[in-house]
Amino acid sequence: MLVQKDSLALIGNTPLVRLAGPSSETGCEIFAKCEFANPGASVKDRAALFIVNDAEEKGLLKPGGTIVEGTAGNTGIGLALVANAKGYKTIIVMPETQSREKMDTLRALGAELVTVPAAPYSNPGHFVHTSRRIAEETDNAVWANQFDNIANRKAHIMGTAEEIWTQMDGRIDGFTCAAGTGGTIAGVGLGLKAHDEAVTIALSDPYGAALYNYYAHGELKAEGSSVAEGIGQGRITANLEGAPIDTQFRISDDEGLAWVRRLLAEEGLCLGLSSGINVAGAVALAKQLGPGKRIATILCDTGFRYLSTLYNREWLESKGLTVFPWFAHNR
Ligand code: PMP
Repeated sequence: MLVQKDSLALIGNTPLVRLAGPSSETGCEIFAKCEFANPGASVKDRAALFIVNDAEEKGLLKPGGTIVEGTAGNTGIGLALVANAKGYKTIIVMPETQSREKMDTLRALGAELVTVPAAPYSNPGHFVHTSRRIAEETDNAVWANQFDNIANRKAHIMGTAEEIWTQMDGRIDGFTCAAGTGGTIAGVGLGLKAHDEAVTIALSDPYGAALYNYYAHGELKAEGSSVAEGIGQGRITANLEGAPIDTQFRISDDEGLAWVRRLLAEEGLCLGLSSGINVAGAVALAKQLGPGKRIATILCDTGFRYLSTLYNREWLESKGLTVFPWFAHNR
């Protein structure tokens, strides 16, 4: 049996699973990368490892140093694990609107957690700007800067895209996912197009994000809102620059949540809402491309990270979202 040389080697090389419901519904073959199988249980372990390796190679990160980052949580969890394995400290800044589980996880991993009120990007108190300031004020610290550090998307060009290409035997017609930093969509898009220019790359954008209108009409304009964590971008980050987006869909929380529910109830996959939005996008792309096509998407993180939100009856009711029918057996 293959033995990995250390914990960092456990990042990436995730399994690809065929999704039965989305495939039978569309007459396509829909596959998904199980990014919840990374050590930090999300796709962001990949970016964390590449960002830390890049900072070391550039001589920015020195022994005993501190990695500072602003994050919806998953990148922070990835960075904390990578930092522990390499002997660095982490300071993680999160908006206080994100799930309690991600905050508890970060504290448990040994990160110093700073929470800030949710604010628009133009506000200096925004979690990204706060993290940059903390990095500047801390001795021997680097700012990971996942949104504009393209070591992030390199993780997906060199890792995720290559893995999908190999796992699908080079037979792939389309790929879709949502964007947070945009590292996944841009990196996988660039990586797959380098193999085959004809692969359709589709952005699945939640409401409240500005990218759907940007790619459809050339205008960064947000409409509506979403409770999905980790996705929903209002600007063209450095990672998104040059992303080869061919088409775009706007996916509601209810559509995403319906897939979260079906994937759990019918296929035994417990996922976060961005995964459901990605699967809803894959179904939309399958319908656009027509039957018989082979499509890939991303299952970004584990649902265990959202027990107090997506999997909590009171929370769902408070947000006006459909409550899972099986909550009826729990009294
Ligand atoms: N889903 C979740 C749950 C995330 O935390 C993130 C990262 N912010 C994404 C999707 C989006 O990934 P990316 O930053 O590569 O666009």
